[in-house]
Amino acid sequence: MMSLIHKFTQDEKYYIIDVNSGSVHLVDELVYDLIDEDSLKSLEELKSRLQNKYSSAEIEEGYSDIKELINEGMLYSMDLYENIAINDNSPSYIKALCLNIVHDCNLRCKYCFADEGEYKGCRKPMPPEIGKRAIDWVIKKSGPRKNIEVDLFGGEPLMVFDTLKEIVDYAREQEVLFNKNIRFTMTTNATLFNDEIMEYVDKNLGNIVLSIDGRKSVNDKVRVKVDGSGSYDKVLPKIKSMVKLRDPEKQYYVRGTFTRNNIDFFEDVIALADEGFKEISVEPVVLPDEHELSIRKEDLPTIFTQYDKLYKEMLKRHKEDNEFKFYHFNIDLNGGPCIYKRISGCGAGHEYVAITPDGDIYPCHQFVGNTDFLLGNIMDKEDINTEIPNTFKNAHIYNKPKCRECWARFYCSGGCQANNFNFNGDIHIPYEIGCEMQKKRIECAIALKAQTME
Ligand code: SF4
Ligand code: SF4
Repeated sequence: MMSLIHKFTQDEKYYIIDVNSGSVHLVDELVYDLIDEDSLKSLEELKSRLQNKYSSAEIEEGYSDIKELINEGMLYSMDLYENIAINDNSPSYIKALCLNIVHDCNLRCKYCFADEGEYKGCRKPMPPEIGKRAIDWVIKKSGPRKNIEVDLFGGEPLMVFDTLKEIVDYAREQEVLFNKNIRFTMTTNATLFNDEIMEYVDKNLGNIVLSIDGRKSVNDKVRVKVDGSGSYDKVLPKIKSMVKLRDPEKQYYVRGTFTRNNIDFFEDVIALADEGFKEISVEPVVLPDEHELSIRKEDLPTIFTQYDKLYKEMLKRHKEDNEFKFYHFNIDLNGGPCIYKRISGCGAGHEYVAITPDGDIYPCHQFVGNTDFLLGNIMDKEDINTEIPNTFKNAHIYNKPKCRECWARFYCSGGCQANNFNFNGDIHIPYEIGCEMQKKRIECAIALKAQTME
């Protein structure tokens, strides 16, 4: 059955979420006890269940408050989106590209999903010509959309800085000609930054994702150079210089990964915050169970305590006016993104695709190399495969049996299609460990937002 209400406590405070309307209620213990997740029980039933804890008058008062919220559509509200989702026949336009400008890397991170830059194939750069054709292709495929996002991705994109510049400069010319607005993001390991590169990327890229794993001891066990030595001392000063130079109006974030090696990742987030970074993401590694660094079910209780500690620390720093942002605790309680993003997430495979150095098109960077998901090539005359994009478009929360019922569906949007496929062989079946962490993060994010809203 579809979840209507979710109840949880965070730091001894009581929260009720009305799943369909998105209303969040910070309540007292009485109201918390009166509300069940599936339906509001009768007054008589609640009185007999709770008579040892509350007086009849208290229960009646709480009950009438709840009834009022139901009448206002803020509790046990009904789903309004399913019909829209099922009957949606609108055409899909590509709004975002992951441009793998090089399949090669100068690091050898032990958890690298991209085979340390190789992507199951051989190491190679994207010829500038392919990059330019990819820009032409996305401009055409974006139809009436004005805004286009392009992620400059690798391996390590700065290994081919000249190509990167050529593509970005070309895009700047084309966006004027076609009345588009192309925003670039780059994900980099920061090893190759110098003054010229930093100045260029600051000026031309809308967002920079800077990879480092937190504490030096943690980073250097996994983010290693070709000779096996750690990368921390090389990258930290470069990341700091990049952030210092960064125009305050423009985005960046430092991004770490946690694995079984640092299940106490709270310390890594704090290490990054204490280095002065204000935009931080530390995300769980996604690896097959048998990998020595993978997150396993038995790690979940420890992971949850780390998120709880982080919640408390962020609240404390907020009160001290020394706050930082933690990417996975960002949440919008005022309606959030548009309905399509709420029900199908990143849009991989139909609104967002990845392009390889050869011009091959895949649903996202995580599918690269799996030819069952090959959509075509940007240089082909014929149009791309339409069956795969349709499958991805229809893989929204209402077509995923677990997600339909899940209270977190409108915040999580059905999880990562690639993780679902990699763990369960089907993009419709969620990656369970990911779900548990996701739900915990959403609770912390909601509580933090509620406690820090002015
Ligand atoms: S820096 Fe990125 S692409 Fe390179 S090895 Fe590490 S995780 Fe892989
Ligand atoms: S992926 Fe998991 S957490 Fe997300 S909506 Fe589906 S079942 Fe819920």
